Amino acid sequence: MDKQIQSQCSQRFTARKFVERRVLASYFMEVNFMKENTDRIIRTGYLVMGAGVAGLRAAVELAENADVLVVTKEGLSESNTHYAQGGIAVAMERDDVPAHLEDTLAAGDGLVNAEAAELLVTEGPLRVTELIEWGARFDRERNGELMRTREGAHSHPRILHANGDATGAEISRSLVAAAMTHPRIKFAEWTTLARLLVGNERIVGAELYDRENYLYRVHARAVLIAAGGAGQVYSDTTNPAVATGDGIALAAEVGAELADMEFYQFHPTALSLPGVPRFLMSEALRGEGAYLRNDRGERFMVAQHPLAELAPRDVVARAIAREGIGEGGVTRPVYLDLRHLTDVDLHKRFPGISAFLAQHEIDIAKDLIPVRPAAHYLMGGIRTDLDGRTNVRGLYAAGEAACTGVHGANRLASNSLLEGLVFGARAAKAMLEDCAGVEVGSEHAAIVQPICLTPADEEKLEELIAGLGKTMWLNAGLLREESRLREGLIAVEEYARELEKFVEAGKGNRRLSEAHAMGGVARAILLSSLARTESRGAHYRNDFPHRDDVKFLKHSNLSSDKVEFLN
Ligand SMILES: Cc1cc2nc3c(=O)[nH]c(=O)nc-3n(C[C@H](O)[C@H](O)[C@H](O)COP(=O)(O)OP(=O)(O)OC[C@H]3O[C@@H](n4cnc5c(N)ncnc54)[C@H](O)[C@@H]3O)c2cc1C
Repeated sequence: MDKQIQSQCSQRFTARKFVERRVLASYFMEVNFMKENTDRIIRTGYLVMGAGVAGLRAAVELAENADVLVVTKEGLSESNTHYAQGGIAVAMERDDVPAHLEDTLAAGDGLVNAEAAELLVTEGPLRVTELIEWGARFDRERNGELMRTREGAHSHPRILHANGDATGAEISRSLVAAAMTHPRIKFAEWTTLARLLVGNERIVGAELYDRENYLYRVHARAVLIAAGGAGQVYSDTTNPAVATGDGIALAAEVGAELADMEFYQFHPTALSLPGVPRFLMSEALRGEGAYLRNDRGERFMVAQHPLAELAPRDVVARAIAREGIGEGGVTRPVYLDLRHLTDVDLHKRFPGISAFLAQHEIDIAKDLIPVRPAAHYLMGGIRTDLDGRTNVRGLYAAGEAACTGVHGANRLASNSLLEGLVFGARAAKAMLEDCAGVEVGSEHAAIVQPICLTPADEEKLEELIAGLGKTMWLNAGLLREESRLREGLIAVEEYARELEKFVEAGKGNRRLSEAHAMGGVARAILLSSLARTESRGAHYRNDFPHRDDVKFLKHSNLSSDKVEFLN
């Protein structure tokens, strides 16, 4: 029976091609061996949830002083970080620092936490220099200088990129390489953190599922949530399948406060082809001079904003959404047009995008590219101070899952990779400082058999998740209003009731855990969006179309289903 269940479970995970062949599965090979004869208990200094830029940068810092276990739901290269294309914004020349700060503040529409932004732009160059020393290869000019490009809402060219449009993959590669040199860092790939453990009024560890659905308990001095965003909550997203908001939902379950959950950035230009994933058409294309055209061939952004195609993301995304809504709600296509950029070798400058388009018979230099907005980046998340501390002892957060307020209501393009480096390192330092004297627990857990869902369960679960995505797109997407948000809440409550049936039947696995997380995050977005009765940054209310600084120059704070606004 055990074997049968195991093989069913294993079949759920189709083998993936890893970019890094040196897969660090040793820890779990050891633990899988352990499961034959022990109680599946792991003890480590610090537990890091996530192997994107924030988690890996933190792990390297933590490993200077302690043992670290990094868990990641799939292979090390499967994260939002890996898919980042355009680049990393950084003021490598000292006199650009104030301008980077100003651009960050301006993009955030009044809500940026200025202290956090100051740390981002001043510590950013140090973190990037260090990354280059660790082996990150950013693109360079012929004279060896770092190549810098400009993106939307940046006043200067300050975006470093790697291999044209594969910046995230290079950052991920170099951080993995740096982490691998630390014998104190262990990785558990294909491992899902499914519950945080509380003891003595602090977080003492977590429960994990391995890829065969066996449950483990990890005891640690503290846990860092660096589990990224939640784009999968929406039917249209640029985010990979792992971005289901698990870290945010699990933190909220143990009492962590969430901030600014109404601010979801919709990237204006994801590829829009039927049956094809919403592959990102990077901002850098518009930075290079690409136009946006409607189905009548007009450059509609010129009339919308003085910066035209380089206007802030939220402005461009809403303009595309409005442009695309034809009579009777029929969606009309909107296109990116690079045909006039004859001075640039577009295939060389954007090799990844060009190759992806070619697979779909689109020539980046010769054809119009159909695009539409898609959920891209969560400005909100687990509320933290400037050192990753949450309001729950022993629980820290960094990167996209966290909210320091550094992006305010709208993130400046290419600031999030930098955020991961800066605040990942800061959170790790705080963990070491705060928790050095904390004893790692050692209690024993009962052995639990792996429990898998039947194919019928799985089908039902996927249907529910797809329904949630559509609900969120329709009711909490680019253009919001009270009636729609309330409808969304009712649908999410029904969704939660359906999920409860699986739990009542004693079922559990990675997908069910993700489904719960997505429900929790969806609810947080809806509640926070309802409470903010104004329009600001990425949050647009048809029924409150103006910014209201008197009431809302504040961050939303969600705790136990209640939203308050705090300075
Ligand atoms: C297509 C795309 C392009 C982008 N382009 C840019 C860009 O050019 N510049 C820029 O600055 N930003 C860009 N971004 C945003 C940026 O990539 C992310 O915000 C950033 O990389 C987030 O890093 P992170 O470390 O917080 O999380 P991620 O990189 O998303 O990593 C999250 C990690 O958590 C793990 N995880 C999640 N849940 C669990 C669980 N339950 N158990 C165990 N592990 C879990 C995942 O497996 C993953 O390893 C882009 C994003 C996308 C999707």
